[in-house]
This record gives sequence, C-alpha cells and structure tokens, in this order.
Amino acid sequence: MPNQSSVTLVTNVGTLVTGELTSPPLHDTSVLIEDGTVVAIGEDHRRPDVVVDANGQTVIPGLVDGHVHPTVGEWTPAQNSTGWVRNYLHGGTTTMVSAGELHVPGLPFDDLSPELVLGLATLSRQTIGAYRPSGVKVDAGTLLLVPGLRANDFDRMAEAGIRQLKFIFYDWSRLDDGEAAEYVAWAHERGMVVKLHSGGVSRSGSSRVAGYDVVTAVRPDVVAHISGGPIPMPDEEIRGVLDDLPQAAVEVCSSMNYRATKVTVDHLVATGAVDRLTLGTDTPGGTGVIPRGMLRNICYLAGMCGLAPEVAVAAATGNVARWHGNPAGVLAPGRPADLVVLGPIQGSSARDGLESFALGDLPGISVVLVDGAPLVAGRGEQTPPARTPATVRRG
Ligand SMILES: [Zn+2]
Repeated sequence: MPNQSSVTLVTNVGTLVTGELTSPPLHDTSVLIEDGTVVAIGEDHRRPDVVVDANGQTVIPGLVDGHVHPTVGEWTPAQNSTGWVRNYLHGGTTTMVSAGELHVPGLPFDDLSPELVLGLATLSRQTIGAYRPSGVKVDAGTLLLVPGLRANDFDRMAEAGIRQLKFIFYDWSRLDDGEAAEYVAWAHERGMVVKLHSGGVSRSGSSRVAGYDVVTAVRPDVVAHISGGPIPMPDEEIRGVLDDLPQAAVEVCSSMNYRATKVTVDHLVATGAVDRLTLGTDTPGGTGVIPRGMLRNICYLAGMCGLAPEVAVAAATGNVARWHGNPAGVLAPGRPADLVVLGPIQGSSARDGLESFALGDLPGISVVLVDGAPLVAGRGEQTPPARTPATVRRG
C-alpha cells in the first residue's frame, strides 16, 4: 500500500484508454493519483512523490481476468502451477475473479455437499482472497452452487464478503424443481453475481452440459465462456442466448473455440451489445498457465474479430469489473489507480499500444501500478520490452 498522502503523476501519456465504452481514448494527457486512487485526468502536479514518465506510450486500466481457478495462495495443482499470480501481474493483470476453487485435490465433484462448498468458499475467501503476496487483487471464495443450500447460507456467505456464485456441477435434470431459480433470486437479493458454466463438459469430466435451454431457464448474470471452455454450444444456441438473455454478460475465455468466438463477437457487434462482452483466461487449467492470456485475448478480438482496440480493452477491463461488481477496470477520478503502461515491441510495425492490439501484435509492458504502487517498473518479465519504455522515478 502507498504511504499516506502520496502523490503519483503519470505524465507524457500518448494515449489513455479509459476502459469505459462511453469514454473514448484521450491523447497527450496525464493521470494524477493520490493515496492509490485516481483523482484527475489531464491535470499536472508541481511536486509529486513519484513520477511515471509514460514516454508517449499507451496507458490502459489494469487487466481484469474474469475467470481464474486459484486453489491455495499462489499454488494450484492444475499444471503444477506455483507463483502464477505474480506472473500474470507481469502480463498486465491486476484483478482476478475466481470462477471457483475447484482444483482442490480429491474434491468429489459428483457428491459436493452444501457443507463442503460453504467451507471451501469460506476458506478461499479468507486465504487467497485476503493474501496478496504479488499485489494482484484476487476476488476468491466463489461458492459452487449445489443442491440443498438454504437462504441463511447465502446470508452467511454475504457476511463473509463472498459475492461470486457459480453453477458448474449442478444437476440440470432437476431444473424443474425451482431450486436453481430460487438461488438466483437469493443471490440478487444480496447483491451477488451468478455465473454459469455454459457449453459442453470440462476437463474434469464432471461439469454439466448447459446449452440454450439451461442457460435461458436459469438466467445467470454472466454466461461463462460462451464460445468454449472448452466446448461451446452450437452457433444458433449462442445467438439465441445473446438475443434472449439481454440482461446477462457473456464471457470469452482463453479456453475458447476461436471460430465460435467470432460468431459471438459478430452477433454482439451486429446487435449493438458489446458492453456485455467480458474476458477471462479460465486458467490455470487444461488450457495451461497463460501470463499473457488477457493480452492475447485482446489481440485476437481486435486483430481478428473486427473490434476497435479500445473496445477490446474495455472487454478486458471495465466490462469485466462492472459485471462482477468490482470497482477496478476503469481509469477515472475516484477509481483505484490500477494501470498498465504498454507500447509496441521492437520489430512491430505498430505506432502505439492500441495499434499493436489492432494488428494482433503483443505489446510490451513497462510499468504496472496497483493502487498507485509501481509493482512493475521498467520492464514486465512476461513480454518482450517495449520499444520506448516508460520510466519510474521519485519526484
Ligand atoms: Zn473455468
């Protein structure tokens, strides 16, 4: 955490991407930060404690990975991953939302009792959800929804600070008994967010297939990996979900089927609904451990799916945060000062960070701030260096 009354000025910003679709990119500007919060855009300061000279580079909000699978701290048994959260920080991710801590060894996916999932969510919330060794904000303690939960269980979870709920192992053959709909109603009464594993079965072999009929019956807030995690529902069902569930966000993850992602994005663009598009990696998992996963998702959406690069960045930042009730993801006064300075890598023909994304070229990260603190300064470890890197110095 920064010291009290510390002032940081991010100056010489070539392009500022706000993370909000309603606020277009700004040019030749600055970001003024006090005590970890953005207080002004485009304002100077005579004696800042820390100066980040962006050197004409592009500044975007810290990336918000809407779909990760932590286990304990920075260790998860999937792909034997240790220290992976810190590696993602160096790929520009400053906030993560857990889609369930389901890699705990021995977890009986087909026989999850309410006691077990409640205990698991509480343990995760109070460990990885509170422990931030690399500075990344991990919203962990995501309750796996199983039959038999009661309203007072939702009260207990809300009191513990748990806001994310997930349908993944739920037996959809019992949909007609009304329990799933009751869970969604209880969640909304308590300001919680319901995510639903959509499409075919996952690597575990135990997640339940959920196509158009299930998704539109349950009406979750976020349709997880709609274009594949790893198997999407058929194209017509994707379009049907987008049309018939207009109040829900949809998620595209690194576990995607690339063709189905294009189907999804084309339909969102055609119907003017890109504000519903959110991104995640769905890792660690069968897709791997991908520190540059969010950057690559932006590159794919901007380079191959026809999204304007600032729209693709919003899908990776402001959109994800808004749909998950998180204050991060947007650079504006009053918001957390989580940001990434990036630009073209030597050898890229791009002129700035946004053009890198538009060309599908991975950009180079030189600075990452979390709550105003420079956790990466000079060179991200997971990207090649930016051509003209930003610098950090004490004022
Ligand atoms: Zn997942």
